[in-house]
Amino acid sequence: MRRTHMTKIVATLGPSSSSGDKIRTLFEAGVDVFRLNFSHGSHDDHRQSIAAIRSIEQAAKRPIAIMMDLQGPKLRVGDFAKGAALLEPGQSFRFDMDSAPGDADRVSLLHKEIFAALEPGSDLLVNDGKIRLKVTDCGKDFADAQVVIGGEISNHKGVNVPGVVLPLSSLTNKDRKDMQFGLDHGVDWVALSFIQRPEDLAEARRLIGGRAPILTKLEKPAAIDRLDEIIELSDAVMVARGDLGVEMPPEDVPVLQRRILRACRQTGKPVIVATQMLESMIQSPQPTRAEASDVATAVYDGADAVMLSAETAAGKYPVESVKMMNRIVERVERDSVWRSTMDANHPEPEATSADAISAAARQIAHTLSAAAIVTYTTSGSTTLRAARERPDVPIIGLTPNQGTARRLAIVWGVHSIYTSDANDFEDMTSKAGQHAYYDGIAHPGERIIITAGVPFGTPGATNLIRIARVDDWSQEAESRLL
Ligand code: PGA
Ligand code: MN
Repeated sequence: MRRTHMTKIVATLGPSSSSGDKIRTLFEAGVDVFRLNFSHGSHDDHRQSIAAIRSIEQAAKRPIAIMMDLQGPKLRVGDFAKGAALLEPGQSFRFDMDSAPGDADRVSLLHKEIFAALEPGSDLLVNDGKIRLKVTDCGKDFADAQVVIGGEISNHKGVNVPGVVLPLSSLTNKDRKDMQFGLDHGVDWVALSFIQRPEDLAEARRLIGGRAPILTKLEKPAAIDRLDEIIELSDAVMVARGDLGVEMPPEDVPVLQRRILRACRQTGKPVIVATQMLESMIQSPQPTRAEASDVATAVYDGADAVMLSAETAAGKYPVESVKMMNRIVERVERDSVWRSTMDANHPEPEATSADAISAAARQIAHTLSAAAIVTYTTSGSTTLRAARERPDVPIIGLTPNQGTARRLAIVWGVHSIYTSDANDFEDMTSKAGQHAYYDGIAHPGERIIITAGVPFGTPGATNLIRIARVDDWSQEAESRLL
C-alpha cells in the first residue's frame, strides 16, 4: 500500500473518531500520523486508540506514527455540569479554585499562579482567544470578569493571559504521568506544549530517556525569541497556531509560520503546520476557499505535514476533512510551480557524507527519472537528510527498527518499511527493488537510487550510492520478502 501525497497528514483523535472503524476510515482517507491529545480523554480512551491504530497498522502493513500531545502547563478551565455554557457579552463570569462543575456563572480554573498574576483590568482569553473577558475583581482564589466577546465555553478550554509570563514548569504532574503512560504504550512522538526556553526541553529529554523523539510545539512568543536554539534541541517542531495566534496578533502568525518552516527546512527537522486548517469543516462538509488556500500554502512552503485538530477529533465531518485535506495536498503537488518551488528552496548540503550522498541521490533520481530513492537507515537520520532535499520521487526508508519506521511516517515524502537489514551488496539491491515493487512505487524496468552504509548494519555510516534497475520479480521473490 502506498500514499500518493508527499506532504503528510496528521489527524487528532477524539469523540468524533474514537471507534476502531472510524480510525481505520481516517487512515484509509490518508492519515499518516494520529495525534492523541492528552488535554482530553482518559488513559483508557488513549489505550483503546493505540490498540486500534496498531491493529490497522498490522493489517495494512504500513507503519503509522502515534503522537502523544502533552497538555503542558496551559491554563484550562475545568468541567461544566452540562459540558458547556454560553457566555453573553456584558454578563459577569467567575473563575475560581472550586472543583465543582461549572455553569453559566462560574467555572473552576485550578491554577493558583494565574490568580496571583491577575489584576482588575487584565484581559482573559478563552478557547483560543475566541472568548474575551476583562477582570473586574480578583483575589487569591478567584477572578470575576466581564464578558467582552461571548461564545460557548466548554470542558477544558484553554485560558490565556496575554503579555503575562507565568512561572510554570513546562511539565506538570499530569504531563509526567501521561508521558509515562504513553511511553509504556509505545507512542512514537512526544509533543511538548508551551515550551518557552531551550532549558524546558532538557528535563523532558531526561525523563523520556531516548524512548521517543521530542516534537516541540511552538506556541509561546518567548520560544520564538530563541527559535534556532529550540529547533536545534528538538527532533521535530509544530507551528501551533492556535495558542501562537492568541498571544500574538493575527498578522504576525503567517510571518512566523514562514520563518519557522524556513528554519526547519534548513536544519532538516520535520515541521508540522497545525490548527484551524479546515476549521469550518467542524460544522460543514465543505471548507472555505481561504482554508483550502491555507493548507496549500503550507504545502507550497515545504511543510512535512499538515494537521487536523477539532476537525477530526470533535467535528461532524472527520472523514470528509481528511479527504479534503488529502485532495488539496495532492492537487498542489501536481502543480509544476510547487515542484519548482521545492527545487528553488532546497537547502545547501552540509559537509557530511550523508548530505553529499542525499544531494547526489536527488540529482541522480531527477536526471534518470528514477522511480524512488531507497535509503537504508537505522535511526532514521539518513532518511531525514534525504527528505531535506525534497527530491521529486518518493523516499523509501528501509529500517530494521520498527520505532524508526513508525517515526518516519511524519516526514515529507518518506514511505518507511520495517524490514531486516541487508546482508551484502546483492541483498541490498534486491531487497530495495522488491520493496519498491511490492509497495507499488517502482515498476519492473524502472530505476531506483539506493543509499546505504558498508559495513552493512553499522548505524550512521551512509557512504554508498547505487543505481539499480527493478527486475521482473517473480512470485518466488515475493515469498522470500515476506
Ligand atoms: P493545542 O495545540 O490544540 O493542544 O492547544 C495546538 C495549538 O495551540 O495550535
Ligand atoms: Mn496549544
